[in-house]
Order: sequence, then structure tokens, then C-alpha cells
Amino acid sequence: MIGQQYLLLPGPTPIPERVQQAMNRPMINHRGPEFRDILLEVNRGVKSIYGTDHNLLIYPSSGTGALEASIVNFISPGDKVLAISIGVFGDRFASIAQNFGAQVEKLSFKWGQGADPNVVREAISKDKEKRIKAVVVTHNETSTGTYNDIKAIKEAMQDHPALLMVDCVSGLGALEFQMDAWGVDVALSGSQKAFMIPPGLGFMAFSDRALKIHGQNNNHRFYWDVTEGLKYLEKGQTAFTPAISLFYGLQEALSMMLAEGVDNIIKRHLRYRNMVRSAIRAMGMDLLAAEEQASTAVTAVLAPGGAGANQIRSRMLNRFNIVVAGGQQELDDVMFRLGHLGYVRELDLLAVIAALEIVMLESGFKVELGAGVNQAQKFMLRAED
Ligand SMILES: *Cc1c(COP(=O)(O)O)cnc(C)c1O
Repeated sequence: MIGQQYLLLPGPTPIPERVQQAMNRPMINHRGPEFRDILLEVNRGVKSIYGTDHNLLIYPSSGTGALEASIVNFISPGDKVLAISIGVFGDRFASIAQNFGAQVEKLSFKWGQGADPNVVREAISKDKEKRIKAVVVTHNETSTGTYNDIKAIKEAMQDHPALLMVDCVSGLGALEFQMDAWGVDVALSGSQKAFMIPPGLGFMAFSDRALKIHGQNNNHRFYWDVTEGLKYLEKGQTAFTPAISLFYGLQEALSMMLAEGVDNIIKRHLRYRNMVRSAIRAMGMDLLAAEEQASTAVTAVLAPGGAGANQIRSRMLNRFNIVVAGGQQELDDVMFRLGHLGYVRELDLLAVIAALEIVMLESGFKVELGAGVNQAQKFMLRAED
């Protein structure tokens, strides 16, 4: 098939040509001055995307590695953890904590909805002896296309001293996040979502309060150890060999992101969400996520009766070379997910909506041809707000 594939996954996401080129450079000494300059520059850049002035370590790992790093550095065996879950990734964070010996109390919410801060407040208020050491929660829940209001969750914790640890892997750079202003202690992310570079880097930002707690932590760890990581960072190095090529890519991607401005990036993703959701609705299809908590990074579309989400996905691939994600676990074949984060344009989304109309018609679902496209075009016309 001619032309490039449309990769509409909630990670990995498309790579800009500039970034691709930047990664195509020779190796350098990871303990030399050239790498030190890159490391310090990207550290500053990633911290500015987080909205933090505190600590950041970058690991050669997928996002889950960063989640594990946060658990083994800041949670000790036996610690009580309140795990808020609204989907697959919330469950994963809870499982990691449990695997490393935490006593996990899980607070689950219906898939497709965000966590209710009042329920969190209630759970926190019950802990009179302040035994909960950490609250772990997902920022953007990729499996359901729903996000949590992290600021409201922090407020619901009132003056409880538990650390607030947030999985921002798919949210950071696509959805508002202000680590220091909101009082988040630990926040994890990864390279293959809104950062527009390939998979392979895990980010862990943490507050000085978290660092203090790390000092008394006795969990098992070696590769992820924060004390080692910070010791090397002071010298402009990483504890172990970094993924140098990905750092080249990150440096280039950050210069694009900082030129655009974080606020503008967030607004752009908000427009994608609104455009896609209104087009899908105009086509007569339903969305999983509730309106107020719908993700700006990924939209979960329920396959209309009988159509079968995976069949729609394979038609999109075979007919148009467009890749969309499936549903996870109990949502497999029930819905598909359109990723719209990172290096995506409104025009790409318009093409995908047009293709989807054809595929839906061919799948025997009554769509008025042009209904979604028309809605999306109208949206683009008034795009400047
Ligand atoms: C992608 C993602 C992860 C990490 O997944 P990896 O496959 O380990 O990179 C974690 N949390 C969320 C919310 C994600 O979207």
C-alpha cells in the first residue's frame, strides 16, 4: 500500500521526521561531556513539561518500569497503600505495589468514569491513625479513555501525609498536569506517548518529601535505586548505560514541544478530543467515557450492535492502512480506541473519520456518509478557540 501508515494508537505514537533524523547519529561516550550536556538539557526540559523544579530520573525502560521504580523506592513492604483504579492501568499500579509487599486497599470505579473525589475523601478520612503511606492513581486511564482529576484528588486527601503517586504515562504532555502546583509527590511517564519518540525511556519525577521517605525505605531494588541515580546525575551521568539514541530523539522532541508551549499542546489535544467525539456522535455511535472526564489523548468508541470492534479495526487496517487500538480485557471486541496524542494533526483525524464512515457502512451499520466528516470540518472551521 502506498503512503505512510496512520498510527492512531495511544502509544507508540508517530515520530516526527526531525526526531527520527536526530536519533540517527553515532554513539558517544555516556560518561563524557557531550552526553552530560544532553542529559542536563533534557532533564530540564522534561521537568518543565511536568511543572516541577524538583527531582527527575530517566530510565531505559517502558512506562511500567517507571511505575515499578516508584513503588520500590517510595513504598516499603507492609506499607498501607490506597490504590485508586478506573481501568487496566490503575489495576496494574495496584498489582505492582502488592507484588512488592504493600498492603493494598483498592478503590475501584466503573470503567468509563473518573474517580469520585468525594469517595476518595471518605476513604482518607477513615484513616484516623494515618496509616496509609501512599495514594497511587492514574492520570489518564488509557484503557478506557478517561482521566482523573488529580488536583481534586489531592484536595480530597486534605492534610493526610500519604504520598500522592501518579501514573502520567499517557497523560503528560496531552492533558493538563502541574506537579508542584498540585502537590503531587511522584509522577511517572514514558517516551512513547505524548513525547513523540519511540518506546524505551521511563521518567520518574519526585518531590523532596518523597526523597526523604526514600531514605527510610527498605524495599528490594538495585537497577531502580534513586540514591544511585541522583548520585550519578550530579556528575551529569546515569547510573547505568542510558538509551543514548533515545536521548537524541528526546532532545529534539523537547525543542519542538517547548517551542509550541505546554499550554498550546494541551489545548491542541483538547481540540482533538472534542473534534473526534463530536464526529463519532454525529455518525450515530456511542462513546465509553463520560463527557466531563473524557481523555484528550485517546477516545474509546463502542462498536454498535453486532459490528464487532475487532472486525472494524481489521477493515481499517486492510482497506486504509490505519491502525487503531482494541479494547483491553473485558472490553476486547466491544470497543476500539482512537489514539490522538503527540505528533498528530487535525487533518489526519479528518481522514480517519472519513475512512471510518466507509468501514462502518461496509460493516452493515447505517451511517450517513459525511455526517462525521461534516461535523469535524465544522469543528476545524472554528478551530481557533
Ligand atoms: C502506556 C501506559 C503505561 C506503560 O506501559 P508500557 O507498555 O510499560 O510502556 C502505563 N500507564 C498508562 C496509563 C499507560 O498508558
